[in-house]
Amino acid sequence: MLEVRPEIAAMPGYHSPQVDVPIRLNTNESPFPPPQAFVNEFVDALASISWNRYPNRTADGLRAALSAHHEVPAESVFVANGSNEVLQTLLLTFAGPGRRVVVFEPGYQMHVQISKVVGSDVIVIDRNDDFTLDRDVVRSKLTEVDPHVVFVSSPNNPTGQCDDEELLDVILESTSGLLVVDEAYAEFGTWSAIDRALSSDRIVVSRTFSKTWSLAALRLGYLIGSPTVVEHLWTAVLPYHLDASKQLAGEIALNYTDEMNDRVARIISERDRVQTALSALGVRVSPSSANFILFSTGLDADVVWQRLLDHGVLVRNCSSWPRLAGWLRLTIGSEDENNAFLRGLESALETE
Ligand SMILES: *Cc1c(COP(=O)(O)O)cnc(C)c1O
Repeated sequence: MLEVRPEIAAMPGYHSPQVDVPIRLNTNESPFPPPQAFVNEFVDALASISWNRYPNRTADGLRAALSAHHEVPAESVFVANGSNEVLQTLLLTFAGPGRRVVVFEPGYQMHVQISKVVGSDVIVIDRNDDFTLDRDVVRSKLTEVDPHVVFVSSPNNPTGQCDDEELLDVILESTSGLLVVDEAYAEFGTWSAIDRALSSDRIVVSRTFSKTWSLAALRLGYLIGSPTVVEHLWTAVLPYHLDASKQLAGEIALNYTDEMNDRVARIISERDRVQTALSALGVRVSPSSANFILFSTGLDADVVWQRLLDHGVLVRNCSSWPRLAGWLRLTIGSEDENNAFLRGLESALETE
């Protein structure tokens, strides 16, 4: 009998409309392509792959490069197809059917979705109206739930804010499970939990090449944690999950750290400029430490979204997400794209 699991049947799935418009500022990608020298080096390197052989199963070259980049032991590094697969592997290893996962909302919806796909129960702790967290609420709720896994994103998507680093201690003190710090945007932010992850079995950090590294098309992410945790992840993940070309691409990309830092700096300066311009328009902004800005105009979000689209600018309409009625999310683009957005928004706010 064909019977879909009820958890899957109940799911809306992941929908980020990829509308064909000139200016796409909806999925937090980098507006800049990676350096041409990287592309050339990668294309040349493809010829050296033994295509008839399975790839290095534990991606040793790539992990050595990541270990050097972050100055962490290679046994503390796990790699997968995007940080989403890192998170899925974590959940298969530490959560799974009937176990409890805690998320804070508004937050990254894939944390909820992947948890449900692996059969876990998701418990939500709400953020305050300004998207901060109340420590006493966090402490008492976590003590009550006693979760197997807790997710924190820092900076948080979609709010763009960084929680206080001390939140991590509050979580660790109130639980006995695994704390996953999703650092997809950490290079734009103010702190990292990598040091903590190296000194505790109970905390791990996930990172991605999708945002800062201008390599969303590559689907490459990684984790930094204790060797014990990493060892278990290798057991749960499919054998040879990471293909040889991707391993090479990641390894080569890490030779272009200066170019990546340069891109990050340009985006941060644009972010701060756009943030100031939005405030000047009287728009409410969630202070961002990431490469995107969550904002609310006071008008109906569906209307503003459509008017921006009429100007050829696609942003993310978050108004149907938990606790985000009225909010839209702008990914920081190039200077020209950001100016087009600001012009579009100004006129969207003038139209009645
Ligand atoms: C974009 C994003 C990711 C996605 O990572 P991939 O490496 O592309 O799978 C993970 N976490 C958060 C919070 C994100 O916003």
